[in-house]
Amino acid sequence: MDLEVRKINFHYGGKKILDDINFEAGKELIGVIGPNGSGKTTLLRNIDGVLKPDKGSIFIDGEDVTTCSPKNLAKKMGIVPQDSQIKFEFTALDVVLMGRNPYLNRFQLEGETEIEIAKRYMELTHCWHLAERPITELSGGEARKVIIARALTQEPKILLLDEPTSHLDLNHQVEIMDLIKDLSRDKVIIAALHDLNLAARYCDRLILLNNGKVIVQGNTEKILTRKNIKEVFGVDVMIRRETATDSYALTPVKRGEEKNVWVHVISGGGSGGELMVKLITMGFRVSAGVLNVFDTDYQTAKDLGVEVVGEAPFSEIGENAHEANLKMAEKADVVILADFPVGLGNLKNVDAAEYSASKGILTIVIDLTPVQQKDFTGKLEERWRVLNEKGAIFVQSSQEAIKKVDTSMT
Ligand code: ADP
Repeated sequence: MDLEVRKINFHYGGKKILDDINFEAGKELIGVIGPNGSGKTTLLRNIDGVLKPDKGSIFIDGEDVTTCSPKNLAKKMGIVPQDSQIKFEFTALDVVLMGRNPYLNRFQLEGETEIEIAKRYMELTHCWHLAERPITELSGGEARKVIIARALTQEPKILLLDEPTSHLDLNHQVEIMDLIKDLSRDKVIIAALHDLNLAARYCDRLILLNNGKVIVQGNTEKILTRKNIKEVFGVDVMIRRETATDSYALTPVKRGEEKNVWVHVISGGGSGGELMVKLITMGFRVSAGVLNVFDTDYQTAKDLGVEVVGEAPFSEIGENAHEANLKMAEKADVVILADFPVGLGNLKNVDAAEYSASKGILTIVIDLTPVQQKDFTGKLEERWRVLNEKGAIFVQSSQEAIKKVDTSMT
């Protein structure tokens, strides 16, 4: 491994800030995530040598660098600090040239002047056109690229970045992260990131810190679970796989105070997603069924951690799934039949609603789309009549259904 961090411990005064931090890194982008105060900055500062660990070692290519001189370390490691504001009116090029300090007493690379080296990295980070501009006049995103160029002119093997996208607007966040991702093809890059969505989208691996300890580390997919996020950040999130970008999106879901009321949502084709989210935020216990495994509602239910009865993709609802659905419907306090097209494959979902209505369970049918338009069985009108007879309540929207649940049950 290019970088090995072995059992780093660090105290501020009497307070332990880093506790046995252990990880290794190759040429990849590693995100360090964790709540404010969890030790992200302190960890980077221990790696880059500004702070000295009380215990532990840092190896670069097998060489222990904890006793390396700052000048030698700067050739191996570049840092982009969190607050890299420069108050003096240096030009952007002057700032980048500062990165060459560790090399000043050495012969220059053959034929390449310091300015050419600076230019090479400023071009790489798309800021060469700013070379003559005073750094104090640059926007946040422009200045960040200059500071990254400065770190790169140290020609380090390892690049550490502390919140590289803080205070940047979305397009600059993406530009900086795209750049960092490109650089990670031939450098070890470790970035402290507070934005979990950026971490999800860009990082190969994540280290999740809390109270100075590594809680978990590993592939991004393995680390970003609802359980881990809840444990460390104390928030419920919905984690959705984004196939277009081959990444994940995290959305906080504020769970309402538990109401001890169970709502079973029967839906399909996206008709139940919003309903499930709203019910959860209101504190209801939610289950769902029967949903085909590729259905967007199935995915939403899974993302929300909702108990769900699934059926194989593109298959008719089978007896087992139907039975499980009936059991849930029977145990629930309310059953909602969402507004979705009904074919022979999912007609059993209507049976389940009929069953709950016949058991005297509050059964709400969201009936916004006219029956003729959503019926692919020729039987729905009759089924609606039966549902009505058995006491199901027909409403026009998810909102109306939720209101009904709320007023009837709480
Ligand atoms: P993060 O980057 O995850 O927000 P930090 O590494 O900045 O976390 O801080 C970790 C802990 O160390 C916090 O409890 C913080 O208050 C403490 N801390 C940071 N800097 C100092 C300092 N200079 N002196 C004393 N405590 C500090």
